[in-house]
Amino acid sequence: MLQLYNTLTHSKVPFTPRDPKQVGMYSCGPTVYSTPSIGNYRAFFTADLIRNVLKNLYNYPVKSVMNITDVWHLTSDGDTGEDKLEKGAKKDWLTAREVAKKYEKEFLDGLQQFNIERFDVMPRATDHIPQQIAMVKTLIDKGYTYIIEGDGIYMDTSKVEEYGELMGPNYKKRLENLNAGERVKMNGKKHATDFALWKFSPKEETRQMEREFPPYGMGFPGRHIECSTMSSQYLGKQFDIHHGGADHITIHHPNEIAQSEAAFDLHHPDRRVNYRVHNEFLQIDGGKMSKSLGNVYTLTDIIERGFSPLDLRFFFFMAHYRSFQNFTWDALKQAQTTRHNLQKKLTTTTPHDTNLDNETIKQEKINNPQRKALAEPLSDDLNTPKFLSNLNSILAKPDEKTLTIIQRFDKNILKCDLFQNSNTTNAWEKTAIPSEILTLANDRLNAKKEKNFALADQLRAQIQEAGFEIKDTPGGFEIKKVR
Ligand SMILES: [Zn+2]
Repeated sequence: MLQLYNTLTHSKVPFTPRDPKQVGMYSCGPTVYSTPSIGNYRAFFTADLIRNVLKNLYNYPVKSVMNITDVWHLTSDGDTGEDKLEKGAKKDWLTAREVAKKYEKEFLDGLQQFNIERFDVMPRATDHIPQQIAMVKTLIDKGYTYIIEGDGIYMDTSKVEEYGELMGPNYKKRLENLNAGERVKMNGKKHATDFALWKFSPKEETRQMEREFPPYGMGFPGRHIECSTMSSQYLGKQFDIHHGGADHITIHHPNEIAQSEAAFDLHHPDRRVNYRVHNEFLQIDGGKMSKSLGNVYTLTDIIERGFSPLDLRFFFFMAHYRSFQNFTWDALKQAQTTRHNLQKKLTTTTPHDTNLDNETIKQEKINNPQRKALAEPLSDDLNTPKFLSNLNSILAKPDEKTLTIIQRFDKNILKCDLFQNSNTTNAWEKTAIPSEILTLANDRLNAKKEKNFALADQLRAQIQEAGFEIKDTPGGFEIKKVR
């Protein structure tokens, strides 16, 4: 049975879905105002890992949602500061809309390079403003809010039971200290933890992004409301898992819980979401990643230094998602070497069954010891380091069956292309192949699926004529430039 660490209970608990016919999972996605850092990728990676384990190891039908925040976030997690998108726009001489579009594309391309399949729904905050306004209205009607003139509509967190419980067993004491503290600027708030649901546009300036909310005039949503609105729209008032980075444990997620449980009249022990899962930060050279230190690395930096994004994916597998992981270039090099060694071993051992397209891990016999060695650590709160060490052990004496099992795990969960030769094309290099060639290759794949082999051969000839070589792989194909 799958065990997950639940931040709500501060313990590892068995995972039982509300409805085994559909597991609902929401993950807090990126704000598209700059290129995602490798730290952001640790969060996307964790979302992908949870989804893949539920779907491909436990065979649950999963509906996964990751939002795209393309508007209206202030630079601080509180309710002050400049809008990130408008700030990004000023920097790049673009409109806020153009900035969002540009970085959304970078984010989606990055997921592909990282072998992360798109989540089932990837809603944009700007496409859901009326829904956000509707939720704020509900909270006003239910008496949870107050207005700060010239500022915005605020959520009164004292009216919410167990506000802040995510912070840990001592959260009440922590909140008391916070409220008593003199360092917190209240700016008209009744309690330090109260937060904006809706901000009024400043009278003296015109924002690029604002919306009318009668009778309150022009404004924009608070930082947290989009996640409550979009998750309920696509997954219902109650669903199974809400995932995000550990930085959300103190502000964003307590606020998300407070406003959504209040809006939907949910009270303990009937929760909106039963499992709150958080991944820990990525550190760089033992410290924080920050612009001022110049160590906010992106996938492009990784590629420019001769790594594949899948080396980074493998690196993430080497640490448990709930521990801090320290990134150094040496550590990434080690991950790359280990990955290449595995690739060498797996592509040169005895030929194995590559015809697995319609097979899945679920078809493995439960009592197969090799399968167990790989499945058990993943079932134990996604223990990926243990998974890798077991992988190493069972590889000591690989037989046909073992290779088949490893191949399935690599295809469905690890997704580090271990069965591709490290000297040939890997996922990110596919993107360097001209798009017209990729189109021909995809057409050929479809032709083969439809058993139209004459067409497939003709397309292969066209690809070769253009100077590329195509090879079939379990996941589809590999293309290499040959001249
Ligand atoms: Zn969120």
